[in-house]
Amino acid sequence: MIEDKPTAIAAGNWKMNGLKESLEELLALRSAVENGSDADCEILICPPFTVIAAFAEAMKGSKVRIGAQDCHFKESGAHTGDISASMLKDAGATDVIVGHSERRADHGESSELICRKAEAVHKESLSAIICVGETQAEREAGTTLSIVADQLSKSVPEGSTASNTVIAYEPVWAIGTGLTPTVDDVSEVHDAIRADLVERFGDDGRAMRILYGGSVKPSNAAVLMAPFSVNGALVGGASLKAADFNGIIDAWR
Ligand code: PEP
Repeated sequence: MIEDKPTAIAAGNWKMNGLKESLEELLALRSAVENGSDADCEILICPPFTVIAAFAEAMKGSKVRIGAQDCHFKESGAHTGDISASMLKDAGATDVIVGHSERRADHGESSELICRKAEAVHKESLSAIICVGETQAEREAGTTLSIVADQLSKSVPEGSTASNTVIAYEPVWAIGTGLTPTVDDVSEVHDAIRADLVERFGDDGRAMRILYGGSVKPSNAAVLMAPFSVNGALVGGASLKAADFNGIIDAWR
């Protein structure tokens, strides 16, 4: 049976960058997407919470979706400073990144907590982008596949489907460093993730998108996105400028 590659996602994670005035960059991206040749991928930008509502309003009717970078696992309550998935939906977000390595490292988030966050995202009928990936020390110790398998099994909720869940494989040592694994290394990890997803979720596991993230830029996107098991990119630094992100989107033109 020859399977089709699922539609790719070009996702931008703006992290703690972006003010109201950054709408200009987003409008530039929108016009690059609309005026360039059609790209065979979905396009998502995840800016800080503070601008989600304004950006979602500005992107209405366009190919560019707006998502969030995190959420609390509860719907409401006494959790000062936190944001729930229902609030994100209310603001116009369609997707929520959970378990980014910066949250795992800076906020001590466990895979079990990330699983609860993903469940909260699913409950609001939004899509969860669940991040996994090994550190430099884990790669050097030869434990990449077991670390990723463990994160995957604990972070992805039971009952996840291809329409409400996306996996992002992001080697921690490649994030924001300019370093990338070889395309063969990316393929090896993505194939292992795919096998785990198929075993757990059957056809949904076969269709779930698996993104690669870590120093993707216009000059390496086409090569990194080429393997059958790579279904898009999660991009940090190079998503902040419309021209760079549009250069990455070229991988699907
Ligand atoms: C990220 O933050 O998810 C990321 C991949 O960052 P960068 O593209 O800057 O490495």
